Amino acid sequence: VAKPDPILVADGVVRQFGGLTAVDVDHLEVQRGTITALIGPNGAGKSTFFNLVSGFDTPTSGTWSFDGKDVSGWAAYRIARLGMVRTFQLTKALMRLTTLENVMLGATDQAGESLWRAPLRFLWAGQERENRARAEVLLERFRLTHMRDEFAGTMSGGQRKLLEMARAMMVDPSLLMLDEPMAGVNPALTQSLLGHIQALRDDGVSIVLVEHDMDVIMSISDWVVCFAEGKVIAEGRPDDIRRDRAVIDAYLGT
Ligand code: ADP
Ligand code: MG
Repeated sequence: VAKPDPILVADGVVRQFGGLTAVDVDHLEVQRGTITALIGPNGAGKSTFFNLVSGFDTPTSGTWSFDGKDVSGWAAYRIARLGMVRTFQLTKALMRLTTLENVMLGATDQAGESLWRAPLRFLWAGQERENRARAEVLLERFRLTHMRDEFAGTMSGGQRKLLEMARAMMVDPSLLMLDEPMAGVNPALTQSLLGHIQALRDDGVSIVLVEHDMDVIMSISDWVVCFAEGKVIAEGRPDDIRRDRAVIDAYLGT
């Protein structure tokens, strides 16, 4: 990265659960246009950090900005509307909705629906049509069109990960945060997921992902940030991080 151009900047972000400090990030930046990997042992605070900056949890202290705007303390739907969306480590597909319906939810569940509008169909019918059209395009993009009218409950783990990415893309985000997008996905689909993530980056979407597999990290990330016990203990290019003493120690638990 020649000239820093951060899309996300976090400062002094701390989250305590009782006596446990789950996250204690002094300073963290995600550069625009990159795939940034968050690595670190289980319990290091990666998912909690995602929850905090995406507005799904409230920190004990700290501030962060997205695209130059201070969004600390904003609700998740407002942050999503600005263009920063995340997926969950445990996928949140609604099993009794179809694939298409699940993807369409991305337009509303993060965008903050108001109840009074619901009966006033004339206000949203046009929007609904637009959402459906966009969802169909995303199903195509993620090769899920054949699952369009199937219940999400019938999908494989990998297909659910794709579904979650498609749903997140409904708000046309500029920053997509993926929490373990490859977990529980069979190896055949892993390559295709990686391809999708790289294609999004090439289309200008900045990506932050939590990932454990070092080969995966080496192959797709531009920058790696290593967490341990809530703190950023190292960051750098993949090749340097792989040989970093602190990173090796964190993984070996010494
Ligand atoms: P990672 O995603 O890196 O595996 P997490 O962010 O899930 O780690 O968890 C970090 C630490 O915070 C862990 O010790 C976990 O048990 C704790 N933790 C996470 N969420 C909660 C919660 N809601 N209540 C209490 N402790 C939590
Ligand atoms: Mg996690």
